[in-house]
Amino acid sequence: MINSHRLSQRFIQLAEIDSESRHEARVAKEIETAVTRMGATVYYDRAQEKTGGDCANLVAKFPGNRDVPPLFLSGHMDTVVPGKGVKVRFDNGIFTSDGTTILGSDDKSAIAIILEVMEVIRENNLPCPPVELIFTVCEEIGLLGAKYLDLSLIDSRFGYILDSTDTEGIVTKAPAANKIFIDVIGRAAHAGAAPEKGVNAIYAAARAIAELELGRIDDETTCNLGIITGGMDHLQSGDHHRRHGHQHCSGKSGDQRRGPVP
Ligand SMILES: [Zn+2]
Repeated sequence: MINSHRLSQRFIQLAEIDSESRHEARVAKEIETAVTRMGATVYYDRAQEKTGGDCANLVAKFPGNRDVPPLFLSGHMDTVVPGKGVKVRFDNGIFTSDGTTILGSDDKSAIAIILEVMEVIRENNLPCPPVELIFTVCEEIGLLGAKYLDLSLIDSRFGYILDSTDTEGIVTKAPAANKIFIDVIGRAAHAGAAPEKGVNAIYAAARAIAELELGRIDDETTCNLGIITGGMDHLQSGDHHRRHGHQHCSGKSGDQRRGPVP
């Protein structure tokens, strides 16, 4: 049912359009032409105002032919560098670049597959929910397109993003890290003559650290304090103290835990 010739031709065509991050406009136009011909309505959000690129995120809506909840399919339009002037080669069933650039199969292969799927559904009049295609910009420089995606354009509550290297399993979450900088500010006083006028920041910090839960917090979260600086003079009660914390969490952001901040 899949037209493998059309699929590979479309992949080659997409891969040979320059679309390094912030320069996705030409590939977006190509996608827009293809999906419009297939009956989709195309929308762009205003992500380029935040990314500084030449293109926004593209959302293409297919009405579907079943009264069921909509589904989204997504990939990103940008590539890493060097991605200008890609020349695709095809030998022994494998696509490569000519060696002077990347190939850009990340994520042009996903775009080609998604478009082929929509072609096949249309040609064969297959049962299909309303489908929203979401093609984002600036993924390779920090998922900026996804970050600034105008969610008011999206009706789907679930979908699939095609952007991983293997075909085994589905990625449902990814690691994240939070950095924490804590300034502990005391009050300077002469440690010998007037200790009762001072507030010792080092002592306060030590008590706070002793209360923190560090190391492995649960099966997906670790927490570490990495740098500690402060103090000026052994006759001054420490009046300023800084700690640098670093927390890693592999859960989604809603799962992230923070140690208590004193
Ligand atoms: Zn990718």
